[in-house]
Amino acid sequence: MPRYILALDQGTTSSRAILFDHEGRPRFSASREFKQYYPQPGWVEHDAMEIWKSQLDVAEKVLAEAQISADDLAALGITNQRETVVLWDRATGEPLYHAIVWQCRRTAAMCDRIRAEGFDRVLREKTGLVTDAYFSGTKIAWLLENVPGARARAQHGELAVGTIDTWLIWNLTRGKAHVTDVSNASRTLLFNLHTLEWDPEILSYFAIPASILPEVKPSSAELGETHLFGATLRICGVAGDQQAALFGQQCFRHGMVKNTYGTGCFLLMNTGTEIPHSNSGLVGTVAWGIDGRTEYALEGSVFIAGAAIQWLRDEMKLLKDAAESEALARSVRDTNGVYLVPAFVGLGAPHWDAYARGTITGITRGANRAHLVRAALESIAYQTREVVDAMARDSGLRPQALRVDGGATRNDFLCQFQADILGIPVERPATTESTALGAAYLAGLASGFWKEKLELTAHLHSTHRFEPQLDFSRREELFAGWLRAVERAKGWAS
Ligand code: ADP
Repeated sequence: MPRYILALDQGTTSSRAILFDHEGRPRFSASREFKQYYPQPGWVEHDAMEIWKSQLDVAEKVLAEAQISADDLAALGITNQRETVVLWDRATGEPLYHAIVWQCRRTAAMCDRIRAEGFDRVLREKTGLVTDAYFSGTKIAWLLENVPGARARAQHGELAVGTIDTWLIWNLTRGKAHVTDVSNASRTLLFNLHTLEWDPEILSYFAIPASILPEVKPSSAELGETHLFGATLRICGVAGDQQAALFGQQCFRHGMVKNTYGTGCFLLMNTGTEIPHSNSGLVGTVAWGIDGRTEYALEGSVFIAGAAIQWLRDEMKLLKDAAESEALARSVRDTNGVYLVPAFVGLGAPHWDAYARGTITGITRGANRAHLVRAALESIAYQTREVVDAMARDSGLRPQALRVDGGATRNDFLCQFQADILGIPVERPATTESTALGAAYLAGLASGFWKEKLELTAHLHSTHRFEPQLDFSRREELFAGWLRAVERAKGWAS
């Protein structure tokens, strides 16, 4: 009997490999960072070959460390940084250009033009997404336009394009499989949420030949097989990182919400088989395809969360390390009326104000370092509340609890304040590796390692629950102050 699922977690700054056992526990892991390229202000690239090699390297390393062979693996699951795209030569497997990363702003002007032409409304209706450089579609159009000869070669069927999942599977299968899963496809701005196919009208608008795109598969199914680890290993689960985290947190039912607290915050609400529609600045996306069904999610992203704590540490020198923020925040009763709005790169959901900038309000003579640090932690919780409120407006559902993961959830003060300001419990699982675990679950369910989702609930036993303790009027008074502070931060840059 195979003992493990191998999960590959290809992130923005590192490639990781984790072996999960039948109880859903991470038993062995390996990770490697890779280089970031910033060729121009606002541009971000990765070397696609380095991504592949680092991912293969950590996979081999984790098997060596565990002293097992591919025979001990039930299946392989993949989760990946989303929206990042690679264009490569089908014959040689060589990328034609660096991978263009989700953070890259090079197509911002193209997005302005799309909006001026009114095509953003078509994109919104069909793909659920806002017209922003963040998503893959304009990045692919840029590659075809700007890499010499790319368009003609694409039209002759010589090239392939894909998000990072597709690139990894292509390499794992030695070019046999050119596939993606529905969750990754739904981040491209080219995928129709209603028909679940690449949309011909959108492809023709961007002049992208359908032949360069991968075949779209479910997230939990056999997507290919690899022979690189000795025995045949089936690739049975694939999902974008945030969708994988939603699955890893077992948010399987309509209305369940998870929030991942890293550099930014990513909130996703499961909307079941209903295609979500937002009037509140959120996007609609595929959650996953499993058991012959496609399920959807409402998503809200906050750009700066844990990064506000990094800023206090690295730029302001108010902290030795991120963990110190917890004791400092607890050393004072409240922020003494101080609010910090960390709109360092504008504001994301639900405001989408590119011109907002960081602001500190309410400073009086008694304000000190601890108040400011506490205000930074509280800002993470307030921004999350704004997205949860937007989700409630859009879906008509208030979540019963918020499941959390990510680096900043190590901070108990933050988790408690989050419960206080939402007025619902916050649940933190024992393993905060929800992203990789989600990929493992998707692969384990398709391969029979786990029989059904119900079997996974046994893994939730050691969840820590933070119950709300603040009374209603104090909570709403604090939040009203936050909303006033946000108004001061908006529209600042010209
Ligand atoms: P990412 O995947 O985006 O790099 P991680 O999940 O690794 O993020 O989390 C790192 C972020 O969490 C950093 O921004 C860091 O400032 C923040 N962080 C880590 N530990 C703490 C802590 N104890 N309290 C508050 N923030 C923290």
